[in-house]
This record gives sequence, C-alpha cells and structure tokens, in this order.
Amino acid sequence: EQIKNLQELDKKHYLHPTSSLKQHQENGPKRIFTEGKGIYLTDVNGDQYIDALASLWNVNIGHGRKELGEAASQQMGKLAYSSSFNNLSHETVIQLSEKLASLTPGDLNVFFFTSGGSESNDTAFKLVRHYWKMKGQPEKKKIIGLERAYHGITMGATSATGIQQFQNMTTSLAPDFLHAAAHKTNCEWGDKNDSDYSRSIRGIIENEGPETIAAVIVEPIQGAGGVIIPPDGYLEAVRDLCDQYGILMIADEVICGFGRTGRMFGVDNWNVVPDIMCMAKGITSGYIPLGAVAITERLRDNLAEVSDDVLFHGFTYSGHPTSCAVALKNIEIIEKENLAAHASKMEMELIKGFKYLTEKHSSVTKSRAKGLLGAFELFEDREQGIPFGPEKMAAQKLVEECLSQKLIVRSVTFGGTNIIALSPPLIITKEEIEKMIMIFSDAIQTVEKSLRL
Ligand code: PLP
Repeated sequence: EQIKNLQELDKKHYLHPTSSLKQHQENGPKRIFTEGKGIYLTDVNGDQYIDALASLWNVNIGHGRKELGEAASQQMGKLAYSSSFNNLSHETVIQLSEKLASLTPGDLNVFFFTSGGSESNDTAFKLVRHYWKMKGQPEKKKIIGLERAYHGITMGATSATGIQQFQNMTTSLAPDFLHAAAHKTNCEWGDKNDSDYSRSIRGIIENEGPETIAAVIVEPIQGAGGVIIPPDGYLEAVRDLCDQYGILMIADEVICGFGRTGRMFGVDNWNVVPDIMCMAKGITSGYIPLGAVAITERLRDNLAEVSDDVLFHGFTYSGHPTSCAVALKNIEIIEKENLAAHASKMEMELIKGFKYLTEKHSSVTKSRAKGLLGAFELFEDREQGIPFGPEKMAAQKLVEECLSQKLIVRSVTFGGTNIIALSPPLIITKEEIEKMIMIFSDAIQTVEKSLRL
C-alpha cells in the first residue's frame, strides 16, 4: 500500500531529469530505491540491484560509506556554510584546494569551486573569454567542442555539447560554440589531405582564424557519448595544436577524474597537461554536490595581471564548507584504498568479461575499457558491420532486460549506435565483475532471442 502510494506520488509530483515524460505518465517511476551499500542499491521491495553505472558515473567509492556522512555532520556542526566572496575564506576550502593541487598534473594548482559539472564547464568558458578579452583580444571567444561530447545542461555547457538531443530544448544555442569531428589524430597533426580535415579541430582553427578561437574543450574519454576512448596520440596532438596557435585547452574530467580510468585523472593516461581542468562527480563520489575548475598558476597570474579588479563570477555555493569536507574525506578514501590502481587492475577483469560475452553472443562487439570505464556494442551482423536499426531498440531492450535481472546499466543510442556503457563503483571486486557479466550474458541471450538472431 505504502509502495503504491510512493509510486502514485512520484507520478503526480516529480518531474524527472533526463527521462521520458510519456513513460512516466503511463507507468510512473521504474524503481524506487531506498538504500545503497557497496555496488548495490536496494529498492522499496527489498530487491538488490548491481549499480553498474555507479549511478551517474559518480559513486566512485561505492554506496553507504558512513565516513562521508560523519565528515558532513562534523562540518555542519562546526561551520555548515560560509561564503568565499570578497576574499573571505574558511579552513576546509583551503585544505581541499591544497589537496587537489597535490593530485592534479603540472601547475594546475589553483581552484574555483562550483556545484557540479555543467557549472564547472560554464565557468571555464567564461574564464577563457574573460582572459582573452582582458589581454586585448575580445574577438578570441569561440569555443571548439567535439561531436558526441557531453558537457552538461546549462546554456554554455549545452552549447558545447555535441549531442543533438541535449540541444533540442534550448531553441537557440549560445553563440560562438563550434563542433569538430572527434579523434582525428592525423588531421590534428596536420594532414590536410585527410577528407575530415575541414571538420577537425585544426581545420576549424585554420579556417576560422586562431585569433577567433579562445579554447578547445575535450573529455579525455567521452562518457555520455558512449565511452569513446581516443587513440593514443590524440590528446597530445590537441595539446600541441593549442600550443601552436595560442589557444587554451580545457579538459572535462567530470567523469574521468578521481580514479575512474585507472589514473587519478583521465589526462594522466597520456601525460597531457591542459590549461584548465573541469571536475565534479567523483570529487565527492556523489555524496554531496560539488564541482571544481583547476587552472594553472600561470593562467591565474596572467588573469590577475590583466583583469579589472573584481572577478564577477561566483556561485552562492562556491567552496561550500560541507561539500569540501565530504570531498576531503572521499579523496582520503580513494587514496587510502588505492582505488585508481584498483580500477586499473579491474580493467583486465572487465576486458576478460567482455571477451566472454563476445565469444558467447554473436551480437556483441567493439568492447573497450580504460580502468572501470567500459562499453560494448550490439550489432545485427558484426562481421558485416550491419547495425541494428533504431526500430529494433536493441540497446534499450537490453537495458530493460538487465534491469529486470537487477543490473543497472545505460544505453547510448545517439546517431544509430547501440552502445552499453558501464562505470561501476571503483571498489568492485573480481567476483562482482564476474557476477555482473553473467547477468549480462543471460540478458543478452533473452534480447537476441526476441530479435531472432
Ligand atoms: N561533463 C561531463 C563529461 C559529464 O559527463 C557531465 C555529466 O554527466 C557533465 C559535464 C555535467 O555535469 P553535471 O550534471 O554535474 O552538471
């Protein structure tokens, strides 16, 4: 009775983020969760689910870690909130800034805080434009993002995002955002004969004129676009290209940061140091909202030199003491439990599991993983490279079947793909990965049968 009531109330009063309104109107919420522990979520019926996406790629240390609640409670008891506007400060934000500086590569040692990833990216866009404007180049304001990139849902982040569906709600996008084809290493190295040259970052810079381009933003590994890992050499090529033309490089580490890819940050896999790094999600493992923007000391010093006095940019919750306290405890756990190294070790188990699925099921192909960020794809005929038509809803069906078998994953179907994305909590064990793969196997078999493969 109580469950039915929750179901009805959700249907009546809750507008869900990134969800089908029609499905919600018809059926209400798919599951209502009440508890989390480790890689598991428990729903109102007491059923336990494997959270193979770490909820939204963010619960890196796993669910139910009491230490984070205690850190929040202690901070709230002492100083729940105070602002950092007008050069006021507090202990916890200073400690977190210092801690982050010890983790970020190069001289990315200065931090601005936000409430999440979209705000971090919008902050980066405003910072780079402000920088060039104050340097006397107000026309150097265009931002180049990649096709299939996801950077969030505020106006700037939506405009930088390279997935059409996320832009449909805005009617008009923010001006001066351009999109380049992703991962065209040869073009970025300067191969003008490549047919994709004019769509590449280099092609766009050279056609538009570098004096009009403020920054390039890239996810080290594209997440929401379908876990797309760049070829080795790509991020280095983008770094060199930005250096060649005096353009700032922004890395969106919102998913990749904090151990997800087997290194503390995604760019560490390729030893690239961007000028700006945007973070959120794993910084608190989702226990409390927080985002951060790392900038180099060089950039800060330059900004300080050229700026008018006040940087008119700050959120009420910039440097929120309680969020900072939770982030510090979360990072302490990531370091103490060596979760980045563990993710790197578990990558092999994930790849082993994908190999098993590929051998057993004729529709599975194109599997990949970096740390505990992985994906595989479903094809109607993988030998001939024939995809399932969108009307078959292959990936969506598999996600639904997994859910009914108590495994939570996500499908990515933009541009006719059938990608299944995974990013389990970093504390996942070999045995738990094997369990997850067996559920996948059962679910794939059911879906293949329903599609008559
Ligand atoms: N950037 C990336 C790479 C993301 O994956 C996300 C969210 O999924 C965002 C930015 C936006 O972050 P938020 O939802 O916290 O605003």
